[in-house]
Amino acid sequence: MVQLIKKLRNKIYEREVNDWKNFTIRQRLFYVIVIIATGLCIINSVETFLITDSLTLRIFMVVTLLVVAIGMWVSLIRKKVKVMSIVIFAVLNLIVYPCVFYMEGGMQSGSVMWFLLGYFYVFLMFDGPLFWICLVATIGCDLYVYISSYIHPEWVQPPMNRFAGTFDSIFSLVIIGIFIGILLRVEMHLYDDARKLAEHRAEELEKNASSRNHLFAGMSHEIRTPINTIMGLNELILRSDADESVKEYANDIENATTMLLSLVNDILDFSKIEINKLEIIPMEYSSKLMFQKLYDMISIQATKKNLVLNMNIDTLFPSVLYGDEKRVIQVVLNLLNNAVKYTDTGSITLEATGDKYEDGTYQMRISVADTGIGIKKEDITKIYDSFQRVDERQNSWIEGSGLGLSIVKQLAELMGGTVKVDSIYRKGSVFTVTIPQKVVEHSAVGLITFGAEDRKKKYQYQQKFEAPEARVLIVDDNRMNTIVTSRLLAATRMQIYSVASGKECLEMTKQKYFHVILMDYMMSEMNGIETMREIRKQENGLCKNTPIIALTAASRSEAEAADVDVGFDAYLEKPIRSEQLEGEILNLLPREIVSYRQDKTIYGESEGSSSGNLRRKRKVRITTDCIADLPKGLLEKYDIHVQNLYIRTERGRFLDSVEIDSDNMSQYITAEDVYPDSCSVEEFESFFADNLTDAVDIIHISMASNTGTTYSRATEAAKGFDYVHVYDSGHISVGEGLMVVEAARLASFGKSVEEIIEALDEYRPKVDSGFLLEGAEMLGRYGYINRGMVKLTSMLHLHPLLKMRHRNVFMDGFLTGEKDHLWRKYVGLRLRKMRQVSQRVVMVSFAGCTSHQREVVLDEIEKKIEFENVIVCKSCFSNALASGAGTFGIAFFEND
Ligand code: ADP
Repeated sequence: MVQLIKKLRNKIYEREVNDWKNFTIRQRLFYVIVIIATGLCIINSVETFLITDSLTLRIFMVVTLLVVAIGMWVSLIRKKVKVMSIVIFAVLNLIVYPCVFYMEGGMQSGSVMWFLLGYFYVFLMFDGPLFWICLVATIGCDLYVYISSYIHPEWVQPPMNRFAGTFDSIFSLVIIGIFIGILLRVEMHLYDDARKLAEHRAEELEKNASSRNHLFAGMSHEIRTPINTIMGLNELILRSDADESVKEYANDIENATTMLLSLVNDILDFSKIEINKLEIIPMEYSSKLMFQKLYDMISIQATKKNLVLNMNIDTLFPSVLYGDEKRVIQVVLNLLNNAVKYTDTGSITLEATGDKYEDGTYQMRISVADTGIGIKKEDITKIYDSFQRVDERQNSWIEGSGLGLSIVKQLAELMGGTVKVDSIYRKGSVFTVTIPQKVVEHSAVGLITFGAEDRKKKYQYQQKFEAPEARVLIVDDNRMNTIVTSRLLAATRMQIYSVASGKECLEMTKQKYFHVILMDYMMSEMNGIETMREIRKQENGLCKNTPIIALTAASRSEAEAADVDVGFDAYLEKPIRSEQLEGEILNLLPREIVSYRQDKTIYGESEGSSSGNLRRKRKVRITTDCIADLPKGLLEKYDIHVQNLYIRTERGRFLDSVEIDSDNMSQYITAEDVYPDSCSVEEFESFFADNLTDAVDIIHISMASNTGTTYSRATEAAKGFDYVHVYDSGHISVGEGLMVVEAARLASFGKSVEEIIEALDEYRPKVDSGFLLEGAEMLGRYGYINRGMVKLTSMLHLHPLLKMRHRNVFMDGFLTGEKDHLWRKYVGLRLRKMRQVSQRVVMVSFAGCTSHQREVVLDEIEKKIEFENVIVCKSCFSNALASGAGTFGIAFFEND
């Protein structure tokens, strides 16, 4: 018996018992009850032996004990809990308790309490009809016992004596009280256990879902890497002059991999949405461009299926909106793709309109209608479920994952919008998305025309540029990816270096300057972000300011977040398309080392004019040296080409503004001997030669002839050419810059060399340029003033002023004062004769200045004179070196 109880106890409490967790609470309760009931039976039997001399009762108690024990055993071994609970009910409630009542003294003994226990058992163990049957049976039996004992008191055997009756009564009360108490405790415990188990299971389910989504996301990432290789190598086949049949196959591979990629993207987005990791990244965007992109993306497929594609855009649609353009495109494109997929004949119509609200929101409504197979009414509710495809019998030949609309709905909702569908089976469907966007520009888009290019045209690679001098470093731990990327770039003739880890990259950046670094985002050991951060702060690193492009196999939003938060200069999503790759690199390369291979608009000419299919020679090109400090935007705008000079350091010669930047000059100046160095006559010769390939005449505007050897070398080089005219600007930095801009402006109007030079002759004496230096340290260092003077100015906190006069730099006095006051004072001094200052343009350069200093200076200029154009620029390294960090210069034209 003890063994049996132990076994039963184990069954209840030991979690190792496998079945335990699978038992219902009622089953567990049954085991608890039978264990306690067995215990009670034993105690009660002992008590019965003590307080009664009735042999019948004693035998009866032993039999009862045996029945309960057998019942337990059967229920445990045979797992017949229900049957045994009924048997035990019948034995105890209907036989044992009434018999004990009659034999132990009736109402004068403790047997009444056992009846109570009987009710307790019924309420705990049974429910449904069985409960009612057992309850009625118990009540009936108890009524019978009470009434019969009332009518036939002789049926009841009185207690042996008063003590025996009282003892039995108190004994029964205590043990039944304890029994009920224990039972309640156990029950609470069991319910507690069940609740915890349920919570644990829910947690596990959530964990499983989350890890499944992470797995999906990870897998999608892993899948993109080989897709990158396939697409890259396939593109090389398409670019090659392989057989037409081979190219046909390659075209098919391209289509299949594009489909695979879109599936992977869908899974990735879906997983992201599930784990709440998909972010909406709002930015300003042009609605016209958005619709044009949509048209470009869908028109090819529509044409392939001979479907008419209509784009009806409300002419009052606001022209610039603020929202996540790429996600809006994703949503609408998904609907357009479905429309094309599920339509065989007829048309696809995109309609876009919306409502403006007073708070500046535009409730954009885009609907996509098709004349396709439509959706059955009963299926409409299912189409947004993930992985759910409807009408599979009809659609089995159409490829799809059933994810598209689920993503559409969730994305639209993430952006605060809705999707709805109206469909007539076999006639067509209209999907409408409504998404609120902020209006940035209220002006209407007007009539948008959509391109009528040859949509069927096959892949044709168009190289954008060549840059043999450019050095590009690829950092990727996947060898195939490195091979593909470098092959895709081979046509550009750039010098491609590659390393397989962040560590190797850091070694490389100590030895060589690179113009651009392509950094894989996910590398083992040191990932892309860590490597980029190390490069940025690398001691003796040569690439601290080199633009870094992240190559990511992650999703767009992750990559963009990386771009924004972490500090990459750009990102490219894998699989990398060579057009984008070339485009991004081209954006980041210094213009002077790039020669363009495609049509390029000539800036400054009448709007919309382009160089056409054949490269047309530009009439007059303005070139200059980096001393002119012109910002990149202006160089591009006026197509000004720059010959960079050099900076000589202990570690070698660096191309100013290309390989070395004034932003980190302090690092060089304190550490080593650094000198500005001009370029050689030969270098000027090849610079002019390059420029003459696409210009008839060149006017090279040089830094003042008395300020170095640059002018004389350029003049020497120009002797070899008929059409190169070197012009002495008589100025440096901002002064020279102003002359160059004026010349370029005239050139863009089509003025001849003579006219431009004549104008420059007029401008030169009118350019007023001057500089305020932080200290005289650098002037002393390069021998412009003696050491004693340097010490004196430093002791007295004097700030030297420099001015250009007769092609020379002159010391124009000193200013004293504290930072802001000093800067404002100098601006005031320069612009004090307001009448003599032409308001047309002012050029301001800063060398190693803080942004605060820049703000103060520009603010003061604005306060003094309202110039029509303010050109702000950063000094090249050579200028910054000569004047020292904290210098700023101002140049303007004097009025007649
Ligand atoms: P799929 O990848 O299967 O196209 P979606 O989630 O985009 O997955 O669409 C779910 C289902 O809705 C599709 O399988 C298709 O049966 C139905 N469906 C979606 N768009 C259309 C449409 N324009 N015309 C008819 N049926 C459509």
